[in-house]
Amino acid sequence: MRWMQFPREIYIGEKIIEDINNIIARLFHQRNCIILSGRKTYNLVGRCVEKKLSSNFNVRSFIVLSSNYNEVLRIKNEIDFNDSFFIIAIGGGKVIDIAKVLAKETDTEFVSIPTCASHDGISSSFASIFKEGIPYSIKAKPPYAIIADLEILKSAPYRLTASGCGDLLAKFSAIEDWKLARRIRREPFSEYAANLALMAARTVIKYRRLIKRGETLGIKKLIKALVASGISISIANSSRPASGAEHKFAHALDIIKPGNDILHGEKVSLATIFFLYLHGKDWKRIREIMMELRCPTSIYDVKIDKEDFIQAILKAREVKPDRFTILEYKNLSRDDIVKICEEIGIF
Ligand SMILES: [Zn+2]
Repeated sequence: MRWMQFPREIYIGEKIIEDINNIIARLFHQRNCIILSGRKTYNLVGRCVEKKLSSNFNVRSFIVLSSNYNEVLRIKNEIDFNDSFFIIAIGGGKVIDIAKVLAKETDTEFVSIPTCASHDGISSSFASIFKEGIPYSIKAKPPYAIIADLEILKSAPYRLTASGCGDLLAKFSAIEDWKLARRIRREPFSEYAANLALMAARTVIKYRRLIKRGETLGIKKLIKALVASGISISIANSSRPASGAEHKFAHALDIIKPGNDILHGEKVSLATIFFLYLHGKDWKRIREIMMELRCPTSIYDVKIDKEDFIQAILKAREVKPDRFTILEYKNLSRDDIVKICEEIGIF
């Protein structure tokens, strides 16, 4: 049996946060509401949402401090509602990832209110969580609803927007890995999920100028593409369509350099060029587009040491070992990695 879980309602528009009371009243019958946000996002959006919802709901706000599993336990212990509640997650990756796991563990629903368009986790059921310093991608819960306010998303720093573009362009290499796994390992493959992920990646190419200028239409297309990528994960019931060797690299770099301040989409976009080259695909074209969008294409753009990049590529094989990609297929040596990086401008 196949089981797919999707967000039930998606709201996209300018200043729709002002209508938050009506939207939430339409979605939930409970009166108890937990708001999760980050320190910055609480000041920017959370406080305002809390104030608006307080007129209709019993609201408890929590500031999410890290994407560590202990944070889920801490918040769970501090929830003092006697009857059922729902969760509203306002922020970027960290807050939404914690909400996904908290919703699963408390058997509740959560609404995702992204404050930046920086990755496709805003709509997917998979969460990136750290346990004892090691990053894990775990199956949790997709958001019950997504409220994407374009005014809020437009005001996010451009670096976060570029990260979202990088996370989507990474689908070109992720899908090649999936096709390879189908061919070599006879892994199940969903044509529909793969095409949806690729369509999301192509949206970035098509609307890149509008995205770069921060125009409303560009940000709208970007957020819709990120939502579509998350939905491709729901269709496949696996992060396969959205995550290949370039995501394994990102996780490996987080293990080698914990606490690095390189954004998720920055790590994967850099590695995407490397893996597209290995797949024999048109890496030059994607590199040009990344440069246009100011996504990192060299270690000097994100300040990664040469040695850390090499070690992360080598270590990436150990991350999610059951995920077969071009890395396992080619079994690269250190010298191969250096040679490729010099050829394609990563070093
Ligand atoms: Zn990603």
